[in-house]
Amino acid sequence: MTRFYILREDAAATAQYNGHFDATHKWRLPGVQCHTCGATWGSAGQQYPGVDLSQLPERTQLVSPWPVAVPEFERLRELVRPLAPSGVGLLPGAQFGPLEGPASGKFGPFTAEGDILWLVQRDALERLQVEGVKGLLGCRTELRFRKKDPPDILELQIEPHGRLHPDCLPPDMPPQCATCGRLGFSLPDEPILESASLPTDLNLFRVGDFATVVIGTERFKDAVHQLELPGITFREIPTR
Ligand SMILES: [Zn+2]
Repeated sequence: MTRFYILREDAAATAQYNGHFDATHKWRLPGVQCHTCGATWGSAGQQYPGVDLSQLPERTQLVSPWPVAVPEFERLRELVRPLAPSGVGLLPGAQFGPLEGPASGKFGPFTAEGDILWLVQRDALERLQVEGVKGLLGCRTELRFRKKDPPDILELQIEPHGRLHPDCLPPDMPPQCATCGRLGFSLPDEPILESASLPTDLNLFRVGDFATVVIGTERFKDAVHQLELPGITFREIPTR
């Protein structure tokens, strides 16, 4: 049976590099202010760098993170939906298009921001694909380096799939808000994945109901180690 691992940035490895970037995605869905559950929120980990909204006439309405009421959020989400991967939730705060902003220094094969957003050097990505790692989608970035011969840095579009097993969630968990879709829980200390919900054709994905958690399969981990690509630590997450 396949094992699954949570990806974290390997601080010791990335300290050998000094790559730095200060960038945001070109477009976004706003946060929401919900009168049903009373929450004002936006999600993290909903990043779709390969979704190009440049031809959308309403794209200028998709740049502000400031929360809006639920009907306005839903209107904006429906503008994006035809251009987004099918079946993904598109939560408040979802981000689209290339990362834009200044960058400097030397980048290793992998660079993470908060373990949520993952950058990869193009040649590292290609070597993983040659090894047969499935479901890796490298998207162009618009990082601006001031030096000559800037590195070819891509952002991985890691899509949400599967979910946590109910056994690892608190029994008194409040239900999902029917109006805004908010799930009011924090990541358990000992998360468990629900086996039956997991994708079988991807070696890298986010947890569908907890998109800040990035999961690599054993196949992904073995390929990263075999190619000696530094930058990631792997912590096994059980399945049930
Ligand atoms: Zn709500």
